[in-house]
Amino acid sequence: MSQRVIVLGGGTGGTLVANRLRRIFDAEELEILVVDQDDRHVYQPGLLFVPFGLSHTDDIVRPRSQQLSHDIGFVEAAVDGVDIQANSVNLVDGRTLDYDVLVVASGAVLLPEETQGLTGPGWMERVFTFYSPEGAAALEGALAKFDGGRLVVNVVDMPIKCPVAPLEFYFLADWYFRERGIRDRVSLTYVTPLDAAFTKPIASRQLGGMREEKDIELVTEFNTGEVDGEGGRLVAYDGREVPFDLGVVVPLHGGAEYIGRSPGLGDALNFVPTDEHTLQSRTAPNIFVIGDAANVPASKAGSVTHFEGETVVANIRHFLADEPLVDNFDGHANCFIETGFGKALLIDFNYDTEPLPGHFPGRVGLPLLKESRLNHLGKLMLQWFYWHSLLPGRDIPGMGSAMPTAGKPRELIRK
Ligand SMILES: Cc1cc2nc3c(=O)[nH]c(=O)nc-3n(C[C@H](O)[C@H](O)[C@H](O)COP(=O)(O)OP(=O)(O)OC[C@H]3O[C@@H](n4cnc5c(N)ncnc54)[C@H](O)[C@@H]3O)c2cc1C
Repeated sequence: MSQRVIVLGGGTGGTLVANRLRRIFDAEELEILVVDQDDRHVYQPGLLFVPFGLSHTDDIVRPRSQQLSHDIGFVEAAVDGVDIQANSVNLVDGRTLDYDVLVVASGAVLLPEETQGLTGPGWMERVFTFYSPEGAAALEGALAKFDGGRLVVNVVDMPIKCPVAPLEFYFLADWYFRERGIRDRVSLTYVTPLDAAFTKPIASRQLGGMREEKDIELVTEFNTGEVDGEGGRLVAYDGREVPFDLGVVVPLHGGAEYIGRSPGLGDALNFVPTDEHTLQSRTAPNIFVIGDAANVPASKAGSVTHFEGETVVANIRHFLADEPLVDNFDGHANCFIETGFGKALLIDFNYDTEPLPGHFPGRVGLPLLKESRLNHLGKLMLQWFYWHSLLPGRDIPGMGSAMPTAGKPRELIRK
């Protein structure tokens, strides 16, 4: 008898898992249903370029249903909750769907209303976020009109999607204002809750040097308690204030709200407690988690989501066959960091090994932790790979899921 897998979320992880499963199982063996609240699949890394006029929201959005292989059902409806005892999903429209295996792929949501003042007066006028298509498009207009003053980029709290995106934003802002010939009239400041611009020491040193060269000020250990859009101030819980003329804020993130309405499924932030190596939920053996929804100690990034796909699909197959699971996900993450002027840096790391110099994916390849034009072209190519290789669940020749060690200093690799 056919079994049913329900995938909650038709974004990066949900789409690639459904497509990979369909390659292994035909429709008689396994029914696959993907549930999403809308039919707009956003290529989120493209949001970075929108405020600078280098991309447009129309260029980065495609229908979700068209990214799914034949014989995968697409249900356009919001999830209201999951009953993990009854193995069923309740939709907001009143329907109930039963599952044999559930994949939670509902990502992370932005919670701007959780920060005092952020969505009050000045929101989308003087304070913006580029983390949503609407915010990125509105910020494009504001940047075009900005002809001098204090631009502040603020991360309210971790975890956030793509932790390097705010750094890329300030590097691109530096480039943008130099191109416009007004860089001397703009002060750029990065305000972060961390004790450095980035978490990983070797990469942080490299990125810190570049930030100083580009004259971008850094304010650390700043826990934003209030954003006063009208008065142009960030206020920390310890009383410190940072003034701005234009604020670019990355709001607090949480897991999807329905997780909070699903007893036993999530944690206090609505992320799903997940085994970091098998990607199985810690509370229900027939639930697997992919991407930003998981509480694993990896970056919330599309690359991580992509590398997780192989383990999630293998383990669904093992679970359905009553076989032991594999525990081979190593936390592999890989991010291009745009640094402006047609250049980018590439970092590659996993749970145990921090970003190292060398090359990716082997002894020859893209330079790691070094600015280059090649890396910038790699970042631009990513969008094509996303739609044509990553989402369809195709393997990229010469690139496995685990972090490659060739081309990196052996003594710094932790096993
Ligand atoms: C500005 C920005 C830049 C980024 N840059 C990069 C980058 O350069 N490299 C990189 O690797 N990653 C980058 N990322 C991160 C990357 O986009 C995400 O990590 C990745 O998309 C996560 O995939 P996911 O499947 O977990 O979540 P998503 O792709 O966000 O999909 C989650 C889906 O769940 C659906 N959903 C949520 N709640 C419900 C509900 N109640 N009912 C029904 N459906 C629901 C949503 O509609 C959504 O479609 C960036 C992100 C942003 C915001």
